[in-house]
This record gives sequence, C-alpha cells and structure tokens, in this order.
Amino acid sequence: MSIHILSPDVADKIAAGEVVERPASVVKELIENSLDAGATDIRVEIRAGGKRLIRVIDNGCGMHGAEVPLAVQRHATSKLQSAADLEHIGTLGFRGEALAAISAVSKTTLVSRHADESTGIEIKMEGSRVLHQRPIGSPPGTSITIEQLFWNTPARLKFLRTEATEAGHISKIVTRYALAYPQVRFSTINDGRLIFQAPGNGDRQQTLIKVYGADIARQMLPVQTEAAGGTAAVRVSGFASQPALHRNNRSYIELFVNKRYIRDRNLSFAVIQAYHTLLPGGRYPIAVLFIDMDPGLVDVNVHPTKAEVRFREASLVFRAVQRAVVRALHDQAPVASLQPSSFPDTRSGWAQRRQTLLQAGQGQEGAGQMAMGIYRQGQPPATPLVGADASAPTASSPLPAASPDLLPPLRPVGQVGAAYLVAEGPGGMYLIDQHAAHERILYEQIVQAEQQPISRQQLLQPLTIELGTQLAGFISEQLSVLQQSGFDIESFGGGSYLLRAIPAFMGKRDPQALLTEVAESLAARDDVVGQAREDELVKIICKRLAIKAGQVLSLAEQRALLQQLEACHNPRTCPHGRPTTLHLSAAQLQRQFGRT
Ligand code: ADP
Ligand code: MG
Repeated sequence: MSIHILSPDVADKIAAGEVVERPASVVKELIENSLDAGATDIRVEIRAGGKRLIRVIDNGCGMHGAEVPLAVQRHATSKLQSAADLEHIGTLGFRGEALAAISAVSKTTLVSRHADESTGIEIKMEGSRVLHQRPIGSPPGTSITIEQLFWNTPARLKFLRTEATEAGHISKIVTRYALAYPQVRFSTINDGRLIFQAPGNGDRQQTLIKVYGADIARQMLPVQTEAAGGTAAVRVSGFASQPALHRNNRSYIELFVNKRYIRDRNLSFAVIQAYHTLLPGGRYPIAVLFIDMDPGLVDVNVHPTKAEVRFREASLVFRAVQRAVVRALHDQAPVASLQPSSFPDTRSGWAQRRQTLLQAGQGQEGAGQMAMGIYRQGQPPATPLVGADASAPTASSPLPAASPDLLPPLRPVGQVGAAYLVAEGPGGMYLIDQHAAHERILYEQIVQAEQQPISRQQLLQPLTIELGTQLAGFISEQLSVLQQSGFDIESFGGGSYLLRAIPAFMGKRDPQALLTEVAESLAARDDVVGQAREDELVKIICKRLAIKAGQVLSLAEQRALLQQLEACHNPRTCPHGRPTTLHLSAAQLQRQFGRT
C-alpha cells in the first residue's frame, strides 16, 4: 500500500495522544517502522542516552522517493486504508503519527531508498519545517537520524533522566524486540560502543541467552502450546523460569501479543497463578511469553503507545496463558521442585532467617536505635544507615520474650588495638569485635530491607560497571538481591551494568571492585544454589563493607555501633557464625582478681 493521508473520519477513530515521551519512545516507534518494512537488520545508534542523537538504520523495503515528504505528515500511513482495517491490524504501526510527532520535536534527517529505485532521497527537517530535500546515493532501506530531541520543547527536556537511565530504557526496548523477532539482527551502539547484538538467526533460545545471560537462560523452561484450532485459537510460546529462579517483583514477566510488547495485569497474574505454591511468598517468576492469535480478536487501538490491548475474549487468553505455563512447569521442571514440601531452600537459609527475623521484629524496641548512623571520621553523620524511625514499627504489640542472646544496653569505654571495643553493661564487661559486629548489623539490615529499605546514596553520575560477559552472569542472576541491598543496578547488556545508587553504608568504597568481588565469589561457590546463594551474596557484601580491624573509631561511632548491635536479633554471632562479643561477668572479674 502506498503512503496516504488518512481521511478525517478514520483519523478520528484512532486513539490519540502523545507518543514521544522520552528517547526510548522514539526508538520504539522507529524500530516498529523498520519491522513493518520487513527489515532483517536493524541498527540502533544512540549518543548521550539518545538526547543528542538517535539513529535507526534498517534494510527494509524503503520508501518511494515521491512518498518520503508524505511520511512525515500527520495521519500519513501505508498501513491502514479504512476504519474497517482497524479491526484487524497486522502491522505494529497504523496511526501515521510517529514520524510527524518525532520530527516536530527534534532535528530529523530521513534517508530512504526503495528497493525498486536506483537512488535514495534525503529530507532534513527542524521542528516540522523542511530544510531541504534532495536525491542522495544510499543502499536500499531507511535511515532516520533524530538529533537534539525536545530542543524546541524545553519543558519536556527537563523531564528526561540521566543519560545512563535513558540509555537503559532504550537498551530494554531493543532487547525486547530482539526476543520477539529472533530472525532480525538487532544491534545497539551506545556512544560508539556495540553493547548488544542479537544473533538474528531465528533462534529465540540463543537470543534469550544474549539478552538474559547464560545462567538465567539455562534456568528458563520453554513454553509451547498449540491450542485447539478455529478462530479462537490462542497460541502461547516463549520461556518461563523454573520455580527455583524468582524475583521480588512482577516486572520480569514480559508479554507480547502478536509480537507486540504489552502490559496486562490480568495476564501477568495468570502467569503468577500458574506457579501457585511453587514460589515462596512475595516472589515472582521471570517469563517472556508470546501470545499469537487472530488480530481480529485483539484491539490494539486502545492507547496511543499501543502498549495496552483489549481482548475480545479475555478469559480465553487468560486460560491459554495459564495452561501453557502450568504445562511447561509440569513437563519439564525436575519432579522434586514441584513438591512444595521438597523445596528445602524456600524455608531454610535466607528465607527462613528473613521470616524469623521479621516475626521477631514485630514491635521491637530497638528500631529507633537502628536509625542511628555510624559514620566514618571526617564524614558528616547526615546519612543514617537505615531510614529515620518515623517508619519504624510501633510498639503496640507485646514485645517478644527477652532472649538470652540479646544484648543489654552497653556503654562504650574505648577501643583496643583499633579492632575491639570495650564496653560496660549491667552484667559486667564486654569485648566486641568491631568487624564481626558490623557484619551482623549490615546483614540484618539487608535481610529486613523489604520492611525498612536500605538508605541509598544516589551517584552524581551513573557508573558503568564492566564485568565481562562471564562474570556478569553471576550478577544478573542476583540483581534483585543487590537491589534489596541498596544497589540501584540494571543490566546494560554485553557484560556491563549501570549503577545509579549504592547503599549509604558503602561510603567511598569502589563499587566496581566490590561488584567484581561479589561476582567472583559467586563464581567460586557454584555448589551453593537457590536461596542459599542469595544468602551467600548478602554475606559477601556484609563482609566486604563492614568496618575493618585497624579502623580507629571515635567514641560517638563506637556508641552508634553498639546501639545498632543491641538492636540486632542475633547480636552474638556474625553472619558466618563467629562470635561478635566476649563477656566477662562481674562475678568472673571478681574471681579473677581474687576478690571473693
Ligand atoms: P505508521 O507506522 O503508523 O504508519 P509512521 O509515522 O510511523 O506511521 O510512518 C509513516 C509511514 O512512513 C509508514 O506508514 C511507512 O509507510 C513509512 N515508513 C516509516 N518508516 C519507514 C521505514 N523504516 N521503512 C519504510 N517505510 C517507512
Ligand atoms: Mg510507525
């Protein structure tokens, strides 16, 4: 179909609204156009998180020279003719708005050459104004360059986040489409660096490995069902995580309808329900599911960004998704892991401890004290280790019975050998190993972070952490635990990560070094799996970030450390089981000095 302007009555029936919110929305629209043009190679280049430049180059069918000026006008499309066509849309685009909307808020250069024509055409625009248009030599296909997005709409420019954040959103869009279209060779080039390349050989499993890393991909079960025929046929395929692999939120469930990424709470719930008792409370699966059905049974003309759809028979789709995932779990998961009772990990180790701690934490008096910050010399005490006690649990429920393991209130006396604190309590003298004690404090804070989030230190500039693909897998497996521990970290593909915030207790330590150590330790402990592995990671963090022996602490710092240790549920041992505290009772002292 050639490009034409939709008649007003058709245009009026299209869900209207703004499609260009941020650089990633531009990339999404341009990729969709390339896919609709049948491209098998799509290259996405960005600079400065897409704020300075976005370029999408494809080898699709291209546009006829005469039609190029039309393409950038509102309601100009080659994908829709009449209002009736809206009932069964088979292309990703159909609104004829994207190029017009994008070029209105940027400096756009479009070069396109139709496969049937010998030369291409270039059109250069600034805002909606055409600067020039001329024939130009070019390979068949289309290249669209968007420079200085929002240069003429400063209000929108202000709402953009950092370059790294915007680049992260773009990266996510590309990898999503790469999974949906495994036969297309997508690549992402960020500031001149190739950060992602899809195999483009049609193998979705291989694409999954590229996107999620080998470790996660290995733990994903293939989903594949062929529903009964007829017009109501709903086919579900893709991948869903084995029960042992889970996350602390549902955003890892990605759904596509007819290869279009969609958000649908109901269908996400269908996936979660399929796991029923297989996952510990508050944990969610990872899934990438492709729902294919007659386009006539799904309305994509609901939302301007086309991310929400309406199903004619929603319950049918719900059941199809749920059945497909259940079938994948039953057919392929190791039998043992399907029995909740034979799921030792969920109730042992990390999860068990968290459960015990949370129960014990109801109404405990130490919460206010935990808000006290330890700060190193020369640093202001402005950042408490945990959130202020405004959110601390109130002491309305009865206190748990005093445990002999809890510590009494301690008064710091001093420090010995820059490694031990001497303190006095009602029962005599206490010697505290400052490193072991701090490890215990950090460990309990992280374990309880779901209740009381770890306070974070926002980085001025997001940091790119390079781990190399091999080590990166060990981190990508554990991103949610790192997030819970106070790291705002996101995979950036190709073995790198973006770090936006670190836990406040990390001080000035080098995040690259820490995360490399974490990944290396995990790599060395491949005998530890499941929840125990999460626990292992938390212990590594605590060990690395705790105050070391040899660090001189002021009296105020000693007091803060003691108060936080007192507030712990298991203050007597470090997370590895070594003692934090030695106690010499008044009676022992008297005996030793021959006073009795
Ligand atoms: P829509 O995709 O909804 O039709 P757009 O504004 O995104 O609207 O694009 C307008 C038209 O320009 C498309 O219908 C298509 O004919 C043409 N077009 C845009 N991008 C490309 C491309 N990469 N390759 C070929 N044709 C394109
Ligand atoms: Mg489009």
